[in-house]
Amino acid sequence: MAQKFQTPSGMHDLFGKKTKYFDKIYEVVSNSARFYGFERIETPIIEDTKVFQRAVGNDTDIVEKEMYSFKTKGDDNVSLRPEGTAGVMRAYIENNMYTKPQPVKMFYFGPFFRYERSQAGRYRQFWQFGLEAIGKGCPTIDAQIISAVYGMLKDLGLKDVIVEVNSMGDSKCRGVYKGALKKYLKKVKLCPDCERRAVTNPLRVLDCKQCVEVKQNAPQIIDYLCKSCREDFKKTLEFLDEMNVVYDLNPFLVRGLDYYTGIVYEFFIKDEELPLALGGGGRYDGLSELLGGDERAASGVAMGVERIALAMEKMGVEIKEKKPQIFIAQLGDTAKKKCLRIFETFRKANIPVYESFGKDSLKSQLNQANKLNIRWAIIMGEEEAIKNSAVIRDMVTGSQDLVEIDDLLKEIKIRLKNKK
Ligand SMILES: [Zn+2]
Ligand SMILES: [Zn+2]
Repeated sequence: MAQKFQTPSGMHDLFGKKTKYFDKIYEVVSNSARFYGFERIETPIIEDTKVFQRAVGNDTDIVEKEMYSFKTKGDDNVSLRPEGTAGVMRAYIENNMYTKPQPVKMFYFGPFFRYERSQAGRYRQFWQFGLEAIGKGCPTIDAQIISAVYGMLKDLGLKDVIVEVNSMGDSKCRGVYKGALKKYLKKVKLCPDCERRAVTNPLRVLDCKQCVEVKQNAPQIIDYLCKSCREDFKKTLEFLDEMNVVYDLNPFLVRGLDYYTGIVYEFFIKDEELPLALGGGGRYDGLSELLGGDERAASGVAMGVERIALAMEKMGVEIKEKKPQIFIAQLGDTAKKKCLRIFETFRKANIPVYESFGKDSLKSQLNQANKLNIRWAIIMGEEEAIKNSAVIRDMVTGSQDLVEIDDLLKEIKIRLKNKK
């Protein structure tokens, strides 16, 4: 026997129930995003490695350890995209989108790649959707993005969603805070990784799982915000209040990425058994310049699709599907041909029907219809086919009516309408 294969470690096939959740998430996200004025963008799965080194930052786990990077046959250094914002910003700059009305609002929905340790709800190929508003920044836009995603999660049936918020300050006040943090970190005991981070990127110490106590006594950025950062943050929170978004202040939320400025936030399910981070975002006014553009305000969010699907599953969210109530059963070649046409008639009328054209026995087809809890079967044997007609059988009462093919759609519509 030939060798059998498995998905690469940390990756998974999507089918059945999972794709149903994914499809539902896509439907809610794309409808809502478009309503808020976001147009779809899909950037390539791979980018020049430098796009991520510059945007995400060299001193991050993502770039240091987690990227799938390789050299192409043409000697280009490329990486599978580990996140979405850098590519969208590269596209904004490359395509001169600053000539359009600002901000340019875009959303994406697709796969991303990080070589991480496998754990529940975390994959090496994972899906994210994101919203980005580039070219103009203000508290209203920040709040609108938060409120849009909050609404999407609610529409998907998730309960107890909470947003943790903080401000990272801007280039002016963050420097002052970093100075204070560095001074503090010199006096405390750190894990070996953080010893290094304390010098290169002190904010990342606040993200460390091993240095939790250090974090609890550290100076808080909120006390170091300059006047304009403080006012922006306050305004954003007032908008969130206005839109009934439930949030908590978390003074240590810093998000691991270098490009954030101003507000940052993360979405959680507030549940002891399911403390699941669903994604987050913030303001990133510094990113455009890192990627060779001029100064541009920008704001965005990225959400984990697997995480959201997992939360939906755990909360028992049911995906309502339009379940067919009609089954087309046929016997003989002439009937099969005519039934294929009838099937198309129903498809055009947007009435879902089951069929089993692969089966030849009428009995097994009707058994299947019973198993599917079908209400009406359209049955066509050789005799009916010659007469250009079919039987509509009520699978509950057993009553049957002979109907001409041309009248089938009309007759079924009447039955669907009258059914209680
Ligand atoms: Zn540490
Ligand atoms: Zn500031």
